[in-house]
Amino acid sequence: MFEALSDRLEGAWKKLRGQDKISESNIQDALREVRRALLEADVNLQVVKQFVADVQEQAQGAEVVQGVSPDQQFIKIVHDELVGLMGETNVPLAEVEELPTVVLMAGLQGTGKTTASAKLALHLRKQSRNCLMIAADVYRPAAIDQLMTLGKQIDVPVFQLGADAKPLDIVRQGLDQAKADGINTVIIDTAGRLQIDPQMMAELAQIKELSQPHEVLLVVDAMTGQEAANLTRTFHQEIGITGAILTKLDGDTRGGAALSVRQISGQPIKFVGVGEKVEALQPFYPDRMASRILG
Ligand code: GDP
Repeated sequence: MFEALSDRLEGAWKKLRGQDKISESNIQDALREVRRALLEADVNLQVVKQFVADVQEQAQGAEVVQGVSPDQQFIKIVHDELVGLMGETNVPLAEVEELPTVVLMAGLQGTGKTTASAKLALHLRKQSRNCLMIAADVYRPAAIDQLMTLGKQIDVPVFQLGADAKPLDIVRQGLDQAKADGINTVIIDTAGRLQIDPQMMAELAQIKELSQPHEVLLVVDAMTGQEAANLTRTFHQEIGITGAILTKLDGDTRGGAALSVRQISGQPIKFVGVGEKVEALQPFYPDRMASRILG
């Protein structure tokens, strides 16, 4: 489906062969291919420009290592730069000593926020962290029922006051319940709209203020490609995120959104969603994502 970067670079390499240095003039073609590959992987244009400039700086004048062809070396530079940008290692979810750890889920409607809440609860339960999910999305008609059904499925309690209650009341009472029950981690599923709007942001800010979360996770649909950058910028500016969950990576995408989210917010992607099932959540590993983006 996608052409691997190594194949794309084939033509560009011919010029590199037989040279003992990667110089400015002979990497221009290769950089152009990197740029095209990243854009095809849906990395945001601004992010691509910055990335290509960084790689150029790294690659220029790099001594060609004995036994390694310049093309392999160049790919390694690109790969390492990508891994570095995405944070090198997996960053686990926060866990605080004074219970409960509070995780606020944020994002647009349809991104997989409610599903991700349950996936996360199941993931934590497997680590012996008992969870309570709070159903604070009162705007999407089926969201509360959906969370209740998922909760039953994974045997994780859900706190809800129906769709007529105010989200702030639900969160306040849900947190009290969690404290009373000695819950390890509270996951708050908040409302997502089809588009970012001021009312949604104001309400999310109030919920954040009230719940003082240790994690604010932005749920980003990997299929939204370029839009992931704008979404991240707005949520990070308005609310402040501590990380992200990239969903729908089982779909037809290279996952370039991962790079945009990280580059724009500076915050790590903590998990990826790889299917509709509640087990389909994996920790995010930068090196795996770099390989996927490059093909
Ligand atoms: P919300 O509006 O953000 O709460 O979104 P939902 O959790 O209801 O998810 C929207 C749709 O995306 C549902 O049909 C989910 O089954 C689906 N979905 C969520 N996460 C994933 C994923 O990682 N992969 C796939 N293929 N589908 C997903």
